[in-house]
Amino acid sequence: MPLVDYDVIVIGAGIGGLTTASLLAKRGFKVIVLEQNDHPGGYCGTLSQDGYIFDMGASLFWGFDEGGCFYSLFSELGIMDRMLKGDRIRRLDPGFQTVLPNHRIDLFSDRNRFFEEIKREFPKDLMNLKDFYNEIDHIEEKLYEIGGTKHPFVYNGKNGVKINQTKKILLNIYILLNKNRYLEGYMRGWDERLELEKFIDLQTMYFGQRGAGDSTLPFLAIISGIPRRGIYYIKGGAHFIADELESSIRESKGELIYHARVEEILTRKKGDVCGVKVRHRDMPLEIFSRTVISDIPIFNLLKRDISRIRYKRMMKYLQQGWVPFSILLGVDEKVIPEPMREHVLMMRDYNLPSYGDNLIFISVNPVWDKTRAPEGKRCITASIFLPSDIIQCNNKGVLREKGEEIILYLEDVIPFLSDYIECVIYLDPLTYQRVTMREDGKMGMIKGGIDMYGFSGLSNISPSRDLFLVGDTTYPGHSTAATVKSGIRTADLITKRI
Ligand SMILES: Cc1cc2nc3c(=O)[nH]c(=O)nc-3n(C[C@H](O)[C@H](O)[C@H](O)COP(=O)(O)OP(=O)(O)OC[C@H]3O[C@@H](n4cnc5c(N)ncnc54)[C@H](O)[C@@H]3O)c2cc1C
Repeated sequence: MPLVDYDVIVIGAGIGGLTTASLLAKRGFKVIVLEQNDHPGGYCGTLSQDGYIFDMGASLFWGFDEGGCFYSLFSELGIMDRMLKGDRIRRLDPGFQTVLPNHRIDLFSDRNRFFEEIKREFPKDLMNLKDFYNEIDHIEEKLYEIGGTKHPFVYNGKNGVKINQTKKILLNIYILLNKNRYLEGYMRGWDERLELEKFIDLQTMYFGQRGAGDSTLPFLAIISGIPRRGIYYIKGGAHFIADELESSIRESKGELIYHARVEEILTRKKGDVCGVKVRHRDMPLEIFSRTVISDIPIFNLLKRDISRIRYKRMMKYLQQGWVPFSILLGVDEKVIPEPMREHVLMMRDYNLPSYGDNLIFISVNPVWDKTRAPEGKRCITASIFLPSDIIQCNNKGVLREKGEEIILYLEDVIPFLSDYIECVIYLDPLTYQRVTMREDGKMGMIKGGIDMYGFSGLSNISPSRDLFLVGDTTYPGHSTAATVKSGIRTADLITKRI
């Protein structure tokens, strides 16, 4: 590895690091990415076993529509054609299915088709829900138009175009007027209130880590806009996105080094960043740059001895994270029932909290994606998220039992599943920790304040002028779309500064 100076060092080749690195390399900066693994992607990666290709983390994608974060990224990199025009990224409609103890609702992008589902499942509340969705769709359109800090999945606003100042002020006032309105106010007259609240809860918890009851109308608007704007599936596995971003970095003469674990962010006396200490395979090296970007989650930066930078002010924005636990199953395709969609959000019991094993996210590869499994087989992933303070992550045995329990719960959606399983992998928090270096594999950590979307949340700057932060812990959303937004923001900040 040449020990020359770089304009920018990026620590970590997760989607956040790759986004910033690819944009800066394209803009002419001399960039190096250092990744401890032997492949890019972090949580947006895949795992292969016995002929199956499983997504380890992200499997349901959004933000590819015009104006969305992925769209903005691919446009600037000039790779839109190869990303979207082939058949690797395909839109799913319905984007996902919600399964409640006595209801099954497909989330179609078209509201009329969605209302048909509501009419079948909640006929008495059809008109109430029409009013509700009409209003929040209107709010979402406005948020989408403003973009910027107001919408976690849009960068510059509608169609990537910056809007003029007066319009921006008017739109901001409109959003402000709605920001203290809650679902509660809407639901008073609803007949099937409990079930409908849980139906919405399922989505706000999964997509935004917040309960429906705590959600303001702008927040609900953004979450309900996800299936409306389009949900996408990556044929062959989520790693495709990371691989393409890596290719883009190399095409722009950037470097990406694997087996390179950053052990310390180097600072000068005044606390200015000057480079990193890295272990490349077994060799200790120092690489120098006046700008360092960290795709290392904030909680690692805070707790580990990786930098001497003090994050006192940031601490107040942080909260406990969510620890993922996933089960990857290779199954005979005969067991997949007809009404099941590629992505399912399932709640088992209305009376249990809407997280942990009461909220299970299930994905199955579509019939047309033959790349994921041997002939006649399909791959299923099922994930749950537990609050980090209740998990004893070193107790793997308990988690194994939990895995077996979850397989039984899945039979509510996939009857007789247990009889058709041919391959099982449990991804416990320690496995996730090993793959991503995240403590207990933990995600989240942004304080979910009332205004989470748009008005607060951590930004990409750090207490040190030349250390920038990217990744899902720096921007509310905890998804690849929000991570890409975080990466674009950081690239823009650096471009302005240097
Ligand atoms: C089970 C699960 C399901 C999910 N489902 C979805 C979904 O369906 N849709 C969606 O959009 N999102 C989903 N997500 C979230 C999404 O995957 C993440 O938000 C996103 O991929 C995070 O990217 P990142 O760049 O912030 O971090 P990471 O993916 O964690 O990347 C960080 C990278 O930095 C590297 N690294 C860390 N420390 C060092 C070091 N010291 N030196 C060198 N390298 C280092 C790591 O190896 C890693 O490659 C899911 C996550 C999980 C866990």
